[in-house]
Amino acid sequence: MTDLNTLGEFGLIERIRQATPAPTHPETVRGIGDDAAVFDWGDEYGLLATDMMVEGVHFDLTYMPLKHLGYKVVAINVSDIAAMNGLPLQITVNIGLSSRFPVEAVDELYEGIRAACEAYNVDLVGGDTSSSRSGLILSVSVLGKVAKDLITYRHTAQPNDVLCVTGDLGSAYLGLQLLEREKQVFLADPNMQPSISEERSYLLQRQLRPDARTDIVHELRDLGIRPTAMIDISDGLASELLHLCRQSGTGAVIFDENLPIDDQTHLAAEEFKISPVTAALNGGEDYELLFTVRPQEFDKLSTNARITAIGYLTADPAQVILATKAGQQTPIRAQGWGNNAAQ
Ligand code: ADP
Ligand code: MG
Repeated sequence: MTDLNTLGEFGLIERIRQATPAPTHPETVRGIGDDAAVFDWGDEYGLLATDMMVEGVHFDLTYMPLKHLGYKVVAINVSDIAAMNGLPLQITVNIGLSSRFPVEAVDELYEGIRAACEAYNVDLVGGDTSSSRSGLILSVSVLGKVAKDLITYRHTAQPNDVLCVTGDLGSAYLGLQLLEREKQVFLADPNMQPSISEERSYLLQRQLRPDARTDIVHELRDLGIRPTAMIDISDGLASELLHLCRQSGTGAVIFDENLPIDDQTHLAAEEFKISPVTAALNGGEDYELLFTVRPQEFDKLSTNARITAIGYLTADPAQVILATKAGQQTPIRAQGWGNNAAQ
């Protein structure tokens, strides 16, 4: 038998993809391989994405309030619809619950789910409920739609396109470090009160209650810009950039000094003796969008402070490179912290 770790998550998905027959329905425009599957609904494309969160793997209930968890599981699904340049319509929610959860815990979880449905204008239309022997398991599927001439895949970027990211990177990872540290303090002495300062609240919010960038989908539409490719940043910029380049058959150069990193991330990174650039590249859970635009389109975007150009695409698929201010060029690898199978 082969250990799962020899393949890793992406190797395993690739193995499944290769063994999956091509779609037989003409309505199935795209199956495995992008942020969402794509369907021909006649006038527009339908989108379907699904994402699961498992207790002890994706969240720790010692510091994750159930209401935030409910919000987050919806937001991370909606993020995959935004990554196709689409907007969400409906979700279904599957929960596996162990007997340690009282009814009130489910109420709290659904309060967060409902808050996210309101925030993203999504209808909760069904789901499934099961008991679980290993804590809480949450899985959401989301349906969305996008105009046919606006759909944005991962595999359609071209050399010379400008690489852009929304928001900032690395903050959710530093938020996680703060929460983990407080947990260790609490475990050592349960009388200790949490001592995360107000100035770090942005990092906690990024980890505990991230938002999907549907606002950017609206904004791109308003600006009349269709990205040439797009992916959401769930596993870290490095990993997503490699997906985008591999699927588009391009290389890339990104510049470390261009990476958008919040002041709070810089301060916390210093405290934890982590390189902020490493946090931005490999931290994950930022749920920002990484997209490419034709160089001549970039001017239309450049006034938006929440969108940052971090580099450009090149013709050589073997070269995905981080150029440092000091003049070094290092190949980008998707090591991540926890990029193992089943993450
Ligand atoms: P994302 O990070 O955007 O959610 P993933 O890396 O989870 O994307 O998945 C990449 C692609 O592989 C998607 O098209 C997804 O639907 C597909 N996929 C993931 N897991 C499985 C699976 N167990 N069986 C079939 N397809 C899968
Ligand atoms: Mg995604």
